Amino acid sequence: MPQTIAARCCVVGGGPAGLMAGFLLARAGVDVVVIEKHADFLRDFRGDTIHPSTLQLMFELGLLHDFLKLPHRKAFQISAQLGNRKFVVADFRRLPTLCKFVAFMPQWDFLDFIAGEAKKLPNFRLFMKTAASGLLEDQGRVVGVRAAGPEGEMEISADLVLAADGRTSRMREAAGLEVEDFGAPMDVLWLELRREASDPEETFGSIAPGRMVAMIERGAYWQIGFVIPKGGAQAIRSGPIGAFRDTIVDCLPFLADRVEDLRDWEDVSLLTVQVDRLKVWSRPGLLCIGDAAHAMSPVGGVGINLAIQDAVATANLIAEKLRTGSLRDEDLAAVQRRRELPARLTQRLQLFIQNRVIRSVLAADAPFEPPLALRLLDIFPVLRQIPARLIGLGVRPEHVNSSRG
Ligand SMILES: Cc1cc2nc3c(=O)[nH]c(=O)nc-3n(C[C@H](O)[C@H](O)[C@H](O)COP(=O)(O)OP(=O)(O)OC[C@H]3O[C@@H](n4cnc5c(N)ncnc54)[C@H](O)[C@@H]3O)c2cc1C
Repeated sequence: MPQTIAARCCVVGGGPAGLMAGFLLARAGVDVVVIEKHADFLRDFRGDTIHPSTLQLMFELGLLHDFLKLPHRKAFQISAQLGNRKFVVADFRRLPTLCKFVAFMPQWDFLDFIAGEAKKLPNFRLFMKTAASGLLEDQGRVVGVRAAGPEGEMEISADLVLAADGRTSRMREAAGLEVEDFGAPMDVLWLELRREASDPEETFGSIAPGRMVAMIERGAYWQIGFVIPKGGAQAIRSGPIGAFRDTIVDCLPFLADRVEDLRDWEDVSLLTVQVDRLKVWSRPGLLCIGDAAHAMSPVGGVGINLAIQDAVATANLIAEKLRTGSLRDEDLAAVQRRRELPARLTQRLQLFIQNRVIRSVLAADAPFEPPLALRLLDIFPVLRQIPARLIGLGVRPEHVNSSRG
C-alpha cells in the first residue's frame, strides 16, 4: 500500500518557481508539501543569476541582509566580447531597486537558503528524492499526485497541485495540457574549467563567427556554455575531444593551459534549449508555473526571474483562498491572466534574438560587423538601461503581499 499524505497544496519541483511558491504559500498559512526528485539542489544545469527584482523580494521578505551574506559576485553591468571589442549590453546602476546589480551565486545556495527559511514554518514540508510519476484524478479533477520516494510509493492528496517541474514537465503532460512549441536554433554544450587568479574577473559572453560562448564565474572554476547549432551535438561529439579543446582555445586563448582537464566527452554535457508555452496553464485542481508553463531560452538569463515572479503572483492571488479552502477553478486562470503577458513578451524577445542574432552568428564563417543593437548601446550608454530593466526587473515585476496567515 502506498503511503498517503494530505496537504492543501502539493508543489511538484524544487526549482526557483516551486520552492519560492512553496515558501510563500506556507508563509501565508497554507499547508504545503514540496516534492523534489533530486537528493539535493547541487546541480550544474541551472543559471546562477539572482536578479535585482528577486533581491527586492528578499528585502520585502526581510531576508536580504542574511541572503547577501552568502558568497556572491555583484555584476553592475553585463557585457559581450566581439573580437577584440567589449560592448556593455546592460547597466543596472540606475534601476529603481534597492540592489542595483545582478548577484551571481550558485543556484543551489539560493535554493538551500529558501528551503532553510521555509523549513522554519510548521506548515511546510519538503520531500527530497521524491519524484512525481502521475496525477491522482477524480471525475476529471486533479486531486493529488502519485510519487515515489525513499520510503517507496506515495499518494499525496491536495486541493491544488502546483506543477513547477520545469521545462520537461511530466505533470503538464499527465494533465494533457496543450503546448505551443516555438523552436530554438541552438543547444548548449556545458562544461567546467579551472579558474586562475589572472583570468578576467567578470561573467561575460564571447561572440565570433560561428561561435558563441557564455562564461559564468563560479569562484574556483568557470562554468562554460558553448552554444552550438540545434541538433549539432552528435556530429561534434563523434569527433575527437582534442578538436573541441582546440575550438575552445580559439575562442578563449587564456584557457589554453587547462583545456587538457577536459579528459573526454563525459566532461561535456548537452543542454537542449527549448522555448514553449502552454495555451492554458491550469485544469481544475492543477496549475503550472515557471518553465512548466513557459519554457524559457537561456537568452538574456531571465528564466529564473520569470519563474520566481510566477511564484509570487501565485501566492498573492490564491494563498488566502487556498488557506481557507475557498479556492475556485476560476482563481487559477487569474494567475495565467497576470503572468502570461510577461512570459509572452519575454519569449518574443528571446525568439527575436535567437532567430536574428544567434542563428546568423552560428552560421557565419567570416568576421562580421557588430549587430546594430550593440553599436547603438555603445554610442548611447543611456540605452543600456532598457536591457537592464528587461533582464533585471522583467516585464511586470511582482511584489510580496505583506499579509501572513
Ligand atoms: C542552458 C541554460 C542556461 C540557463 N541559464 C539561465 C540563467 O543564467 N539565468 C536565468 O534566469 N535562467 C537561465 N536559464 C533558464 C532557467 O534555467 C529556467 O527558466 C528556470 O530554471 C525555470 O525555473 P523552474 O523552477 O520553473 O524550473 P527548474 O529550474 O527546471 O526546476 C524544476 C525542478 O523540478 C524538479 N522536477 C522535475 N520533474 C520532477 C518530478 N517528476 N518530481 C519531482 N521533481 C521534479 C527538477 O529536479 C527541478 O529541481 C537557462 C536555461 C538553459 C537551458
